[in-house]
Amino acid sequence: MKRAKTRPCPSCGDGLRRGVQNETLTYRGQSLTYQQPGWYCGACGDGILEGADNEVHDAALHELMARVKGSPISPLMIRAAREAVGVSQREAGKLFGGGPTAFYKYETAKAVPSEGMANLLRLALKRPELFRKQVRGGSSWPSAQDAELLRKAIRNDELNAIVRRVYPQTASR
Ligand SMILES: [Zn+2]
Repeated sequence: MKRAKTRPCPSCGDGLRRGVQNETLTYRGQSLTYQQPGWYCGACGDGILEGADNEVHDAALHELMARVKGSPISPLMIRAAREAVGVSQREAGKLFGGGPTAFYKYETAKAVPSEGMANLLRLALKRPELFRKQVRGGSSWPSAQDAELLRKAIRNDELNAIVRRVYPQTASR
């Protein structure tokens, strides 16, 4: 869809044009300055935000709120981790824990995740494949993926000897 280049300013009748302006939000004494896209009037300085513009505004507000509330991880990082794994907010509450509304609350800064959850989400950003459903399951237990993780992680000969006896299929090749 092609957008009109100008639209009438509701305040002065002049033309609004697409642009970006620095906007400063303040929440409980802390502030965040970000770049707000929108329709802006060169004559009176008024502006209008539409769909995607509001998303930028809301994201900036949630980042600021999470920071003020002492969140160990940013809401945008949480969303990025969830999307990297490819799950809905509801599914993420099951996969990572926290319940069906946890991720909605984390991503809108209505609640702050624990340090443990934040670390888990950082791991998901680095290694999203570990959290994808199709990786799990299969008939062997531990799964082939888990056996590989175990092989790479064990640095202790005694533990290695035990694991090799209990799960011969996980032994180093
Ligand atoms: Zn105007």
